Amino acid sequence: MALPSFTDDFPAWYQEVVRQADLAENSLVRGTMVIKPYGYAIWEAIRDGLDTRFKATGHKNLYFPMFIPLRLLEREKEHVEGFAPEFALVTHAGGEELGEPLVVRPTSETIIWDTYAKWVQSYRDLPLLYNQWANVVRWEMRSRLFLRTTEFLWQEGHTAHETADEAWAEARQMLEVYRQVAEDEMAMPVFLGRKTAAERFPGAEETLTIEALMRDRKALQAGTSHYLGQNFAKAYGVRFLGRDGEQHFAEATSWGASTRLVGGLIMAHGDEKGLRLPPRVAPTHVVIVPIFGKTDEESGRVRRASEELAAAVRASTFEGRPVQVEIDDRDDVRPGYKFAESELRGIPIRLELGFRDLQKDAVTFVRRDRGEKEEVTIVSAADRVPATLGEIQKALYDDALAFRDAHTTHVTTFEELRNALDDPGGFAIGGWCGDPVCEAKVKEETKATIRFLPLEGPDRPDGPCVVCAQAAVDTAAWAIAY
Ligand SMILES: [Zn+2]
Repeated sequence: MALPSFTDDFPAWYQEVVRQADLAENSLVRGTMVIKPYGYAIWEAIRDGLDTRFKATGHKNLYFPMFIPLRLLEREKEHVEGFAPEFALVTHAGGEELGEPLVVRPTSETIIWDTYAKWVQSYRDLPLLYNQWANVVRWEMRSRLFLRTTEFLWQEGHTAHETADEAWAEARQMLEVYRQVAEDEMAMPVFLGRKTAAERFPGAEETLTIEALMRDRKALQAGTSHYLGQNFAKAYGVRFLGRDGEQHFAEATSWGASTRLVGGLIMAHGDEKGLRLPPRVAPTHVVIVPIFGKTDEESGRVRRASEELAAAVRASTFEGRPVQVEIDDRDDVRPGYKFAESELRGIPIRLELGFRDLQKDAVTFVRRDRGEKEEVTIVSAADRVPATLGEIQKALYDDALAFRDAHTTHVTTFEELRNALDDPGGFAIGGWCGDPVCEAKVKEETKATIRFLPLEGPDRPDGPCVVCAQAAVDTAAWAIAY
């Protein structure tokens, strides 16, 4: 049950939390994972947060096949070069060698845009605002559960538009959706920005990103939204008759977020005891732990009181949804073990109820985020659950934000950049001349990459490029990243 040290060995801590909290496990093929019910329930909550917002912004879900003929991928040169090292190819099927190999989709721009060519003839057919929930395969040499797996679950939005302005607005809008889900649902503060050319999605004109900070001070790319321009329309022949009577190529976006977000959630909020789940994405809000008495009669009364308490909590709502309650009434496990397990699983509220408590009409109310214990009356316990869940949601966000603020440093020289990446770690923000040589130099010497160029801010960065001291054209945020 004891976890490896959160501060001394974060990777081991992560691995053990995932295992002991029963979130996921490795499967037979290297890099693949089994997502267990508790981990899947967290993913479902995140997925619902995304899906609701996709629909509210006018998108519809559809589904494309997972096999893509290799020749189709080869039509977009940059795209295929970017993904080729991670392809899984099917060469045999039905007992025969296939006439042409099939790629198991690493992402679906190619097959979708090849199909859009049939769907789009006129400006009246636009925009196409579609999303699919799917699995994709990118062969991984060094995998880690949720963060980097050979097969993962995600959504990919693929939209087609008449004009560049419209497509650009769409890419920005979906970045905002990702921000909302990260910050409002997952209580995980994120920076919004553009990627440099070196970090861009293969085939994109511009890649927008949300970047979060994990508790080991590494950055995590948590969702990306791409403005693809006309690259895919040209490669797959998606032309339409415009309002001006001329033929035009459609403008494209794509955007994706994956089960990696579950890994982000674990690492953004975890502590030495395990997970701390924000109530909006927690599968269980409240666990009731009955502490059985010395006799069967005492235990029976505790059990009944726990069930009544559970019914009262279940009757309350948190933000319009029923509060999810569990009673941990296993009689072969000691209460102390159950307490530790509920903390490991990150359940926001624990209610401890023993025979002596029952006699004085009291229950111990424990908040997972702060570990505070308070004795309250049984009647009031259920009443305070909804408001406390709201407080925990906010407290986890505030805590993560304070951590990020303490690990974001403004730098003006390479020396300062190097020092800041080392201590306090996290994000180091400073001027950049725009030269990929300077970007590569930092990566080589510090392992840090430019995570993003802020979307908003002063037109001109103050101060020079932190690497070469030439005039800066952009502000850049460097960090060591997952
Ligand atoms: Zn420079």
